[in-house]
Amino acid sequence: LSVNQYLRQHIRTVPDWPAPGVQFRDITPLLQDPKVFRVLIDAFVHRYMDKALRPDVVAGLDARGFILGAVVAYELNVGFVPIRKKGKLPFTTVEETYELEYGSATVELHTDAVKAGDRVLLIDDLIATGGTMMAGKKLLEKLGATVTEGAAIVDLPELGGSQRLRDAGLPLYTLVDFA
Ligand code: IMP
Repeated sequence: LSVNQYLRQHIRTVPDWPAPGVQFRDITPLLQDPKVFRVLIDAFVHRYMDKALRPDVVAGLDARGFILGAVVAYELNVGFVPIRKKGKLPFTTVEETYELEYGSATVELHTDAVKAGDRVLLIDDLIATGGTMMAGKKLLEKLGATVTEGAAIVDLPELGGSQRLRDAGLPLYTLVDFA
């Protein structure tokens, strides 16, 4: 069994959540089992320990990106910064608004979270339309940082988000695809 197949087996699909017709890919079982959690984190850590790919900073997207990003950053011995939904960060921020299927969302980042020239790894649990990760990339770039790669557990390639992100110049590393 490959690492990818092993991880796939531990992702739970919840039908009709949060809305009818949606198949929600639930990654919480990967975190709950310590053996699986270690395989998951090690898949990211081994890739980004490589000298050429090692970031200066890991940025995590609210909220499951915090869980993954913080552990990966700790293991790489680099800092972690949170990109949060609007209204949660206390210090001065930059913000980016993006379109959702219904309405819009705004994310924020502290202005001192990264320095110009920093090489940043951006992490979330899942890429659907790619809107969330694109907004995170834009925030980091507003502060002069470079997002060297986007990483996620799951990609939903049929929604086109990962292709859009790659077309926008963001290399991606994902572990499991669901059609
Ligand atoms: P996107 O912005 O359309 O790419 O959606 C990705 C964001 O929505 C991520 O922050 C995910 O955590 C969340 N998300 C969307 N669909 C799912 C899902 O099926 N499982 C878990 N998270 C999801």
